[in-house]
Amino acid sequence: MKKISFLLLVLAVGCAVAPFTGRRQLVVIPAEQMLSLSSQSYAQVLKENKVSNNQQYLNSVRSVGSKLTAAVKKYMQQQNLESAIQGYQWQYTVLQSKEVNAWCMPGGQIAFYEGIMPICADENGIAVVMGHEIAHAIAQHGNERMSQQLALQLGGVALSEALSTKSETTQQLAMAAFGAGSALGVVLPYSRTHEYEADELGLYFMAMAGFDPRTSPAFWERMVAQGGGSRPPEFLSTHPDPVNRIKAMNRKIPKAMQYYQGKK
Ligand SMILES: [Zn+2]
Repeated sequence: MKKISFLLLVLAVGCAVAPFTGRRQLVVIPAEQMLSLSSQSYAQVLKENKVSNNQQYLNSVRSVGSKLTAAVKKYMQQQNLESAIQGYQWQYTVLQSKEVNAWCMPGGQIAFYEGIMPICADENGIAVVMGHEIAHAIAQHGNERMSQQLALQLGGVALSEALSTKSETTQQLAMAAFGAGSALGVVLPYSRTHEYEADELGLYFMAMAGFDPRTSPAFWERMVAQGGGSRPPEFLSTHPDPVNRIKAMNRKIPKAMQYYQGKK
């Protein structure tokens, strides 16, 4: 019986077509729920982590952040997709952590970890990472991952029930689905499809914000070069083969350049 209710829910809400790619996505979590899960998760992260003391890191992340989110709003308007970022509360922080990580929650809360800052090297590098992370958020990758996990882990439970009676599990799933779960030991890799989508959109966003998209492959090369030892959660672990990834990126750069030069 309960299985049926989840299935019905999936059929009723689940078959959304991704606005950017036309890909069919399983997204069962209502937008308001995503927004509130995001702000709860962000508050939890801020409770459990210290904000960086490095003023330069904070300033650059905020500066790139405000330019990028202005560009994202413009892009969404142009595509008639403004509703997808309705209710977003854009926030930017840098956390004290050696982890090579960054994320954007599907409510606009963005965090960089100190460990990724030297690899970013400059504001172009920050824009590469942030554009990519914002793209994961607005292309509903978090919702998609969470929907899959809910189906797997709480398959027999209706979503509303999962959100009310299993709030702790649901919260943990949200953290993992949004890329912030490493502290809990829950790491959910993005799929290759997600990565390619995020790379492409990220290039357009950074270009519209005035950052040169041609700097993107060099950032990923730096990321690969530092790769060896511990594998960071959002980066590299299950990411597409870096060579293919950079090739795919190079194919999108001409289109991104049109945004960069204001021709699009
Ligand atoms: Zn990613």
